[in-house]
Amino acid sequence: MKSQQTQGWQAKDHAHHLHPFTDPKALKQAGGRVITRADGVYIWDSQGNQILDGMAGLWCVNMGYGLRSIADVAAHQLLELPYYNSFFQCSHPPAIELAAEIAALAPPHMNKVFFTGSGSEANDTNLRLVRHYWDIQGKPEKKTIISRHNAYHGSTVAGASLGGMSGMHAQGDLPIPGIVHIAQPYWYGEGQGLSAEEFGIRCARELESKILELGEDKVAAFIAEPIQGAGGVIVPPDSYWPEIKKILAKYDILFILDEVITGFGRTGCYFAAEYYDLEPDLITIAKGMTSGYAPMGGVIVSDKVADALDKGGEFAHGYTYSGHPLSAAVALENLRLMKQQNIVAKVAEETAPYLQQRLRQVLAQHPLVGEVRGVGMVAALELVADKASHQRFAAELGVGTQCREHSIASGLVMRAVGDTMIIAPPLVITQDQIDELVTKAKQALDMTYADVQ
Ligand code: PLP
Repeated sequence: MKSQQTQGWQAKDHAHHLHPFTDPKALKQAGGRVITRADGVYIWDSQGNQILDGMAGLWCVNMGYGLRSIADVAAHQLLELPYYNSFFQCSHPPAIELAAEIAALAPPHMNKVFFTGSGSEANDTNLRLVRHYWDIQGKPEKKTIISRHNAYHGSTVAGASLGGMSGMHAQGDLPIPGIVHIAQPYWYGEGQGLSAEEFGIRCARELESKILELGEDKVAAFIAEPIQGAGGVIVPPDSYWPEIKKILAKYDILFILDEVITGFGRTGCYFAAEYYDLEPDLITIAKGMTSGYAPMGGVIVSDKVADALDKGGEFAHGYTYSGHPLSAAVALENLRLMKQQNIVAKVAEETAPYLQQRLRQVLAQHPLVGEVRGVGMVAALELVADKASHQRFAAELGVGTQCREHSIASGLVMRAVGDTMIIAPPLVITQDQIDELVTKAKQALDMTYADVQ
């Protein structure tokens, strides 16, 4: 039975609140899930249900909920300097200290940060930044950006265009001109008949074919997530990134690595650039930078790009909230806690290997699970109708959504991307809590399996 308060919130929510990525009709029918508080790796809904947050919010609450020191720092910053901008040669201590801290964590050849309010804004910045870069180099015809099908780079016009989500492109006549897409390295779904290694090489070589087709002199950049997150946790075959690296070394184009999900520890390294041994020119960041306690994104800029910008005069781009003092102070405290708790090494050495091993041991044999894949503290369970042929369920059955609902009813948030269940818990999750997560995921799979029999 829903409480009166819950029913009241749900009615108001549907009447007045237009939600992102939500069908209003379905929202009206089901009523929104109203989350009222959170602590550690758990959230509570308005009905008092305690739920393990297997998605860290939206892949962002890396240090977990309820951190008193972040709240204290935020309160202090709001009283000291709640707002000032970083336009027109202005600055303030939180943005300065945060930029220096991120530069210290980033690959050695990257030492500057442009701040934004979100990951989408950061990728908008990238689009403008790479075109500005080539203008400064005297190569204004280098404008096209190559991305990948099923990539997610945000929801603004540039972000959604850079992304490769067909559903998003269908709304609003996207992508905008100057952005093209090549194959994603999705071996389980698209690599039949080839070994993972062969498929990885084939996908990577599409980058070279596309550069040659367009002409190197027309291509500004290649953008990619190290592991495609919202596309269903697409972990590339081991051969993919080394081959891409070789191709990038051959051609004079910039490389944008979108680490909005992977940045700040999720792979067991501060950045997946280190995990995959990549040398990007620009890294997109957001989410884990503040553990979601305040909105913030940014672009980490390599010395090569920064040096060019030094010669280009004013970069006519910026956001009112670029480097917002509250968000910057929160990010600094979040990063201090990450260091103090040695959380990235703990993820690499203890908790992530345990999560990946338990998911495979307990769930890989499940009759619904075609593949368990993942790296570090991010994983996917791909649900299929037939394990041998990888045959999927008809989309209209909504098996993934069913499994998500069973999961939440079992006390675990998993996200459904089609029929792929996503797990990306806070990095602070313990081994006991991982056991709880795996048990609840199995319960959700069992309930879903009973439905489809
Ligand atoms: N890039 C990637 C890889 C993401 O996963 C996301 C969000 O999920 C974004 C960009 C967009 O970030 P935001 O939602 O902060 O605009």
